Amino acid sequence: MRIGAFISISRGYERALKDALSIGANTMQFFTRNPRGSAVKALDERDVGKMEELRKRENFGPLVAHAPYTLNMATNKKETADFTMRVLREDLEKLEKVGTEYLVIHPGSHLGDGIEAGIDRISAVLKEVVTGKERVMVLLETMAGMGSEVGYTFEQLYDIMDMTGTPEAFGVCADTCHLYGAGYDIKEHLDEVLDEFDKILGLEKLRIVHLNDSKFGLGSRKDRHANLGEGTLGLETMKKVINHEALKDRAFLLETPGGMENYKKEIEVLKKLREK
Ligand code: FE
Ligand code: FE
Ligand code: ZN
Repeated sequence: MRIGAFISISRGYERALKDALSIGANTMQFFTRNPRGSAVKALDERDVGKMEELRKRENFGPLVAHAPYTLNMATNKKETADFTMRVLREDLEKLEKVGTEYLVIHPGSHLGDGIEAGIDRISAVLKEVVTGKERVMVLLETMAGMGSEVGYTFEQLYDIMDMTGTPEAFGVCADTCHLYGAGYDIKEHLDEVLDEFDKILGLEKLRIVHLNDSKFGLGSRKDRHANLGEGTLGLETMKKVINHEALKDRAFLLETPGGMENYKKEIEVLKKLREK
C-alpha cells in the first residue's frame, strides 16, 4: 500500500525522503514553499539527484506537492490573483525538475461573490497557468465548504475543470475530513459517495486521498483535522477507505495533528488495518 504524510523539505529533498522512510512511509507530500511566506530557495540540483537515486532504490511512490494556503484562484483582488498566478507558474516549473507527480491546490474562496463567480475565476487562472503539457498534474482538492470556499461538491469541481477547456490535464485529491464536512457520508455510505464521484467526475480523476479524521460532523462545512480514530469518522471508516476496491491502489497521505511521531504511529495502525 502507498502511505505517507506531510514532510518538511526545509532541509532538502533527500533529507525529506529519508525522514519519510524513517516513519514507514513510501510516498510523501510537501509544501512547495513555506505555507505562509512566499520566498523560494534556488533548487539544489545535487540534492535532487541524490533524492532521485534514493527514491529509485527504495521504490518510493508518488511525490505530491501542496500549494501554499496563501494562494486564492477565486479571489476578486488583483494583487492576490497576480501573486497566485506567479507562484503557481514558479512552483510548476520547479516541481517538474524535482520529478513531482502531483500538485494539490485548494480551488479557492470567492470572498462573497458567489460560487459561479468563483468557478469562473478559478478556471480562468488554471487555463492561464496549465498548458496540459506539464509532467506535473494539478489536482483540485475536495473542500469542506468553510466560509466562501469553492469546490466542496463534485459538480463544482467538474465545472472548474470543464471550463478550462482541457479537463484531461487535471485530477482530484479527495480529503476524507473535507468530504465529510461537505456532507458526503463516507462513514455510513462510502460506496454511494464513490458511485456519485464516478458518475460526475469519473473515478480515474481521483489520484490521491488525504486521510484525516474530523473534529466535526457530517455536513458541518468545517475543516478541522483530527487524529485517526479520535474524530467523528473513526478507524472503521479509515479501514473501509484504505481497503475499498476503488481506492486501495491510490496513495494515502496523512495530514493529522501531532507531527512525525504521530504520523509514524498512524502509519503503523493503517498498515495493520490494511487487508492483504
Ligand atoms: Fe489541502
Ligand atoms: Fe487535505
Ligand atoms: Zn483540511
